[in-house]
Amino acid sequence: MSIEQNLKNITATISEEITLVAVSKTKPVSDLEEAYKAGQRIFGENKIQEMVEKWVAMPKDIQWHMIGHVQRNKVKYMAEFVSLVHGVDSFRLLKEIDKQAKKHDRIINCLLQMHIAEEATKFGLNETELHDIINSEEFATLENIKIIGLMGMSTFTEDQLQIRREFKQLKSIYTAIQENIEGLNVLSMGMSGDYQIAIEEGSNMVRIGSSIFGARNRH
Ligand SMILES: *Cc1c(COP(=O)(O)O)cnc(C)c1O
Repeated sequence: MSIEQNLKNITATISEEITLVAVSKTKPVSDLEEAYKAGQRIFGENKIQEMVEKWVAMPKDIQWHMIGHVQRNKVKYMAEFVSLVHGVDSFRLLKEIDKQAKKHDRIINCLLQMHIAEEATKFGLNETELHDIINSEEFATLENIKIIGLMGMSTFTEDQLQIRREFKQLKSIYTAIQENIEGLNVLSMGMSGDYQIAIEEGSNMVRIGSSIFGARNRH
């Protein structure tokens, strides 16, 4: 099926209040152009270098989301244009984003990534680390970042109940810290294989790659 048709099928099954991030990592610019022509304006990439190249090549009304793990020394390359950083998982990274955003006189929106999966390999904060960040005195002094929500990935498993349980857990953390952080309104959870469950559990931003662009050859 075509990229356009895939996008249509997905948008037909999700409500308008849910933001669809088209995850275009590893895909050629021609694929992104096809999605763009079909009306898609939000793209997610997981490597900064690749996102920069696509940003240069593509129209400027696109919102670029960095969904992958971010190395601090590369933040400077995306600070000029990135629209949302999903994978903030340390205070040091947050400080670097703030510093680089300041150079461009911008405020960069960020999501704190929570570790909800069973696998030890997935990045993210636990609840203690989350609270340490948002309650720290220094956090309040960062003027060029804004935390607008949380992101999380479920365990890679066939066990739907486990996936649901993990999303439920993230939603409850999200609801609890809405009282601490003003303007928190993004809950980024759900990918091709589990976005329906994620939406049922309260997601309002889904990151979908293979169901739009087809399977990837590399990660
Ligand atoms: C690759 C990726 C996705 C999209 O995965 P699909 O299964 O292809 O939809 C979503 N979120 C993150 C963080 C990713 O790295």
